[in-house]
Amino acid sequence: MRGPESRDPYLEVMGVQEYVRRKNTSDAVLSPVSESCTGEAADWTTLQAEVSGCMRCGLHATRTQTVFGVGDAHADWLFIGEAPGEQEDLRGEPFVGRAGQLLDEMIRALGLERENVFIANVLKCRPPKNRDPSPEEALACEPFLVRQVEHVRPKIIVAVGRIAAQNLLKTQVPIGKLRGQIHRYAEIPVVVTYHPAYLLRSQTEKRRAWEDLKLARRTLSLS
Ligand code: URA
Repeated sequence: MRGPESRDPYLEVMGVQEYVRRKNTSDAVLSPVSESCTGEAADWTTLQAEVSGCMRCGLHATRTQTVFGVGDAHADWLFIGEAPGEQEDLRGEPFVGRAGQLLDEMIRALGLERENVFIANVLKCRPPKNRDPSPEEALACEPFLVRQVEHVRPKIIVAVGRIAAQNLLKTQVPIGKLRGQIHRYAEIPVVVTYHPAYLLRSQTEKRRAWEDLKLARRTLSLS
């Protein structure tokens, strides 16, 4: 039996008690978007510049700034959320509010840190009053996400919440039915889980979210 010293506080936050060995992060790159000086890096820089100057939809008029994404640009794990909220719009980084803190806990429960994964959103700009993205906005922003996925080439994508899942998978199927299966986006396996903002309101679903992350980890380990 494990002693109290081996209890993982992050899993406790997730509502589960399970020991996971933390990945060796000694080679982790801590800059928001890490790249070496290659042609690929130049493409990534170009993409970042295109996103930051984007006026493809009306959201450019109300944003403080675009939110490109953060993390290791060659991560195995890609987490995709919906759209920046108020804090993200102000900080220029995805998932930095309360929901973001919970997403960090979920990532840590996997033995990883935010710097070891890449986190992006379907939309790069905040919809006013945090309304759902319109289909037109999602379509206008899609080429950016496609290029991010092509560049990062993750081994697993975690679609965080209904909006991300339905946009990525081009479906209207409810999230409850999308969970628990392996979907594909550009051949890459996709696992759907609940949005951390929802988990903050519904603590009992945290255990299910942990099941989703374990499915994603198993899928990655088989690749
Ligand atoms: N919710 C999201 O889906 N993305 C963010 O970046 C923040 C909150």
